[in-house]
Amino acid sequence: MSEKDLEQLKKQLLQQRQEIFKRLHNLEDDWQALSEHDIEPEDEAQKAGLTELFNQLDLREQREIEEIDLALSKMATATYGICEACNKNIPLERLQAVPATSYCLKCKSLQNGE
Ligand SMILES: [Zn+2]
Repeated sequence: MSEKDLEQLKKQLLQQRQEIFKRLHNLEDDWQALSEHDIEPEDEAQKAGLTELFNQLDLREQREIEEIDLALSKMATATYGICEACNKNIPLERLQAVPATSYCLKCKSLQNGE
C-alpha cells in the first residue's frame, strides 16, 4: 500500500468518525476542533470530551467508532490492512470501500455464516 493510499484511507476514517458524532450532536464547535486531531491519549481534557460524546452514542455507533479507532491505531503501528483472521493483506479495493474493516472479504463472510 502506498503512502498516498494510506493517507486517503485515513482521511476517510476520520471523516466517518466525524459524521457519526455529527448525527448525534449537530456538531458542537469544539467537536470540530477535537476531531481534526489524531487521537492523542495524553491530552486528558480532549479525552474526557471524547468519552462524554462517545457515551451518548448508541451501541451500533459505538462499535463503528471503535472499529474506526482500531483501524487508525493500526495505521500508527503499520499493521493496518492485514486480515485479523488469516493474516493476509486485505485488498486495497476492499479497504477503500470499507476502510474500518479488520477482515478480508472471505473471512468476513465466513464470520457472518454466509
Ligand atoms: Zn482473511
